[in-house]
Amino acid sequence: MPGCCTRRGIAPFLTGKIITGVQVRERRLRWPIPSNLAARVTGRRIAGVTRRGKYILVDCGTKNQAGGLLLHLGMSGSLRILDVRAKAQPHEHFDLLLGKWLLRLRDPRRFGAVLWVGGDIARHPLLAGLGAEPLEDAFTGSFLHAATRTRKAGIKLVLMNASIVVGVGNIYANESLFHARINPRTPAARLSLARCDALAAAVRATLQQALAAGGSSLRDFVHSDGSSGYFQQQYYVYGRAGLPCRVCGTPIRQLRQGQRSTFYCPACQK
Ligand SMILES: [Zn+2]
Repeated sequence: MPGCCTRRGIAPFLTGKIITGVQVRERRLRWPIPSNLAARVTGRRIAGVTRRGKYILVDCGTKNQAGGLLLHLGMSGSLRILDVRAKAQPHEHFDLLLGKWLLRLRDPRRFGAVLWVGGDIARHPLLAGLGAEPLEDAFTGSFLHAATRTRKAGIKLVLMNASIVVGVGNIYANESLFHARINPRTPAARLSLARCDALAAAVRATLQQALAAGGSSLRDFVHSDGSSGYFQQQYYVYGRAGLPCRVCGTPIRQLRQGQRSTFYCPACQK
């Protein structure tokens, strides 16, 4: 099953496999790969693979000892399942060996990470400050309303703040605000509960649509400015400055917020 980079793609393959070793060709990633990693993981069975923000959690805890691998793809990383005999190419810095197979990390810019976390992986400091997962039940209008009461910044910036909600990149923030008919510059604290309800629903629908349309890789989900050709056809505002709004025909406007481009319809988004 040689495949690329999606958590959904690798999860069924990894789950239940026994880790037979690791191969480290370059230790210096965003943080160094621990030198005792092989001793930590060899012989453990992978109980499951989940995602949290930009991190992939490979749970290989045992009854007596919780723990797992924390993987991060950084700016340019990707993961593939390969035959254990597959020769490593440049930038392929790490393999997790799984008998006849291996999970290989390629990361040209080396901003990714491979870390061991003993104990409850969800409590690791890298994960503890992360906000809600937008596709989980806890992400509701009430949550968004409560989380934004002290936030005076424009709602678009707040929506892209990973300490509040994770994984809403620039494209999805723009599109969600359009569907919720909210001006991106509206101070977050001024949004009513009803508008937060509309926004939470729009974020959820926008992400689900992107996933269904093929933007299902972790990288598309996380680095949402990447060119996901499937979803691009359906943009309402993103990248459409000066073009007529698909709903009302008013020219779409563009501005800068926090170094990122914001697109909105001045008529639909009051
Ligand atoms: Zn419009």
